[in-house]
Amino acid sequence: MLEVVVIGAGIAGFAAAHALWERGAAVTLVEAGRPGGEATGASAGMLAAQYEAEPGAKFRLGVECRARYPEFVARLEELSAQALHLRWDGVLVANLSQQEHEQAAEAIRWQREAGRQAELLDPGQAVELQTGVSAESVSYIWFPEEGQVDSQALGAALGPALARTEIRLISGNSAAEVLSRKGSVVGVAMADGRKLDAERVVLAAGAWSAGLRGLPRVLPVRPVRGQMLRFPAATLALERMVASHAGRYLVPKADGSVLAGSTMEDVDFDPSITEEGLRVIHDEVSQLVPALAGLKPLERWAGLRPLSADSSPIIGPDPELEGLIYSTGFGRSGILLAPLAGAIVADLVVVGKSEYDWKPFQPDRFAEGELTPS
Ligand SMILES: Cc1cc2nc3c(=O)[nH]c(=O)nc-3n(C[C@H](O)[C@H](O)[C@H](O)COP(=O)(O)OP(=O)(O)OC[C@H]3O[C@@H](n4cnc5c(N)ncnc54)[C@H](O)[C@@H]3O)c2cc1C
Repeated sequence: MLEVVVIGAGIAGFAAAHALWERGAAVTLVEAGRPGGEATGASAGMLAAQYEAEPGAKFRLGVECRARYPEFVARLEELSAQALHLRWDGVLVANLSQQEHEQAAEAIRWQREAGRQAELLDPGQAVELQTGVSAESVSYIWFPEEGQVDSQALGAALGPALARTEIRLISGNSAAEVLSRKGSVVGVAMADGRKLDAERVVLAAGAWSAGLRGLPRVLPVRPVRGQMLRFPAATLALERMVASHAGRYLVPKADGSVLAGSTMEDVDFDPSITEEGLRVIHDEVSQLVPALAGLKPLERWAGLRPLSADSSPIIGPDPELEGLIYSTGFGRSGILLAPLAGAIVADLVVVGKSEYDWKPFQPDRFAEGELTPS
């Protein structure tokens, strides 16, 4: 049996470990804290392939991931016996200025050309679709195919799901170094001094991925903090996601509560919530749904996204160190993108190739030692 160590049990590490195990590998998954306890459990759970998208490989990957999401959720629900509330209610994106309104036509044009659904709505039509959205917006883009999952439930489901597999989970213990000999991976050294032998190592340590010792290159992944709020149930009748072009959004959940996010902050590994960050989110989501202005949030938290230098994921084998494979750098879209990335990684490890075109995401697109794409 092929011995594989996967580092990190967020959605990226879980998906890779699970897909490897299904393909017959002997998998050890190491996790510094608890499965799903970092960015994965902190996220909003939007499965948004079209919102904030640009034409290109990442857009195509997102659309493919979205199409395959029901399969991933069904498997995770089956293994964990927990409901993940996958739903496809679409997202309304507010064009708050004349300029955003004018740019919307172009976004709608290329997305339709790519075979996706997208529509321009006037404020009256938007209010009809979703009560409570602002009638003051110039217009809205309506993406009916977008969806969401309960990512707090998803984060909490990873541990119980792993317990139902033969994946060996070592949690509460960090990997410190990727060990290699003569250009090939031989294992992982843990922070407590233990050594794990492995023929392959999958690096899926989220925002912490670049910090492992023994990596053959500077990995251009950094933490970007996102803060979140949750508003109470029953005060708003939101059914659909609502978002702005500035990256603020509202995501209604199954219990009626509404998540509001988020910030993009370069603050190194500081996971704090700040009054300023929460105020900006509250003010800007109140422009989308004015009834939120007077509401007091129920909960607040923050998470660290693993953002790569070009904002696209890093998927595939290291070009120099045989046996080291990356599944990281998912930035703002890891809940959407990581499950398919896990399947790609498992195919590359076990079969030696993937039917999906992962080449645009391979690690050697970055010049060696540089933080920008070559
Ligand atoms: C506020 C917020 C909102 C978001 N909203 C969305 C959204 O709506 N849709 C979407 O698609 N994405 C969203 N994201 C992004 C998404 O959450 C991330 O891209 C995704 O969770 C990354 O998954 P990951 O497994 O790479 O990282 P993580 O979930 O952070 O997992 C990495 C794991 O590795 C572990 N680890 C780190 N170092 C080590 C080590 N040395 N040894 C062992 N274990 C280690 C950590 O403890 C952690 O559990 C959001 C993120 C945030 C913060």
